[in-house]
Amino acid sequence: MANICVIGTGYVGLSCGACLNSIGHNVVCVDIDPAKVDLLNAGRIPIMEVGLEEIVQRGIVNESLSFTTNLKQGLESADFVFLCLATPQSENGSADLSILMSAVESISSLVKSGSVVITKSTVPIGTFSEIERVLNRSDVSVASNPEFVREGSAVLDFMQPDRIVIGSRNESTSRRVASIYSELDAPLLMTDPASAETIKHASNSFLAIKLSYINAIAIICEMYGADALDVAAGIGLDHRIGSEFLRPGPGWGGSCFPKDTSALLFMANQKGYEFAILREAIAVNQVVQDRIIEKICNLAGGSIDGKKIAVWGLTFKANTDDLRDSPAVKIVSRLLALGARVNCFDPAKFEIPAQIIQANISRSALESCQDAELLVVLTEWLEFGLVQPAQVVEIMSSLNVFDCRNILDRDKWMDAGFSYQGLGR
Ligand code: NAD
Repeated sequence: MANICVIGTGYVGLSCGACLNSIGHNVVCVDIDPAKVDLLNAGRIPIMEVGLEEIVQRGIVNESLSFTTNLKQGLESADFVFLCLATPQSENGSADLSILMSAVESISSLVKSGSVVITKSTVPIGTFSEIERVLNRSDVSVASNPEFVREGSAVLDFMQPDRIVIGSRNESTSRRVASIYSELDAPLLMTDPASAETIKHASNSFLAIKLSYINAIAIICEMYGADALDVAAGIGLDHRIGSEFLRPGPGWGGSCFPKDTSALLFMANQKGYEFAILREAIAVNQVVQDRIIEKICNLAGGSIDGKKIAVWGLTFKANTDDLRDSPAVKIVSRLLALGARVNCFDPAKFEIPAQIIQANISRSALESCQDAELLVVLTEWLEFGLVQPAQVVEIMSSLNVFDCRNILDRDKWMDAGFSYQGLGR
């Protein structure tokens, strides 16, 4: 059992802190947000994450997990310190390290001698040395341990990871960090710090390229009358390719892919390499959204000015409440700018972002369809597939549905009288 301090209790820090606690460690999580810390100490979590609240409550009850705003208290007995701070995109596309580095500066005089400071935040290649420099503690080791959990399945992903990646300057530090995960059954990759930092960027960019690839194939399918779902199934059955991340959709988003692809592009550029595949994947992501807007206008008879449109889904994917860089939010914002009256429904709870503040937020999927001329599905929440088209028929003013996630039962909706449009089919 190790004493661990996790700094930053957002999506990653909270999931990792609670899961590290549940595999037997004493964990103190530090955050600068007192309201969040109070909420967490009361056993409630500020994000939507399956199974996480129960783990947090268990840890609090057996007094092996706590939350504080007091950095000194958090670091007092920590042998391992995880940095889980945001690394947002800055104006020029690079990652903004100011939050992370200011946290490193704050812990510099407080970390215990002999401890290991571990970066879980996604950071540019080479940040490791900068952390060592700012920390300025020869008696403290530094390691990179990028995080791959997905929002919405963070607990499961933590407990059953595809791999654990640890980068450090010497094997003994990596082995110490690896010992934290000894309860988990997962391939362990120990490498140098730059490679560990690169693995995270290379993974996210590869997945973004894969998604853009299937979205581009979906465009080809539409042009030639093929069905992108069958095509994706046919591609995915090749084990060298795999079936995941092959679903056409309204573009990728969220708190990681947009900023991480842009950061890698920036890093490549810094060294004089034009990473054209990645640049194109980012460009395709924009094209996909432009085409969706164009199709919505066409489905509404050429213009959406003054038209009522129902939208199902605002989060960047299902099973999360995260709206950061959500393609759905971007699309709704463009619909509003074109004069549409938009009724949105999403099962998650969140604060409505400023760019879609004029949208009407409905209390149910059905309610959002009242008097709408077009229904657009933007997030793949399972419950949308359970709505009976026969009920929707009663309340929409025109029977048009544009299923940008291909999750509705096309035949059922068409049988109910809808003009159904999927993506890539
Ligand atoms: P987040 O914005 O949700 O959380 C950051 C937390 O840090 C917030 O709670 C904030 O209050 C706190 N904080 C800010 N300054 C602090 C300080 N000085 N001391 C203590 N706490 C402080 O961010 P996130 O989504 O959890 O992402 C964190 C990092 O993990 C990023 O680098 C991200 O790219 C990476 N990552 C995220 C995911 C994901 O699914 N969100 C997955 C893998 C990796």
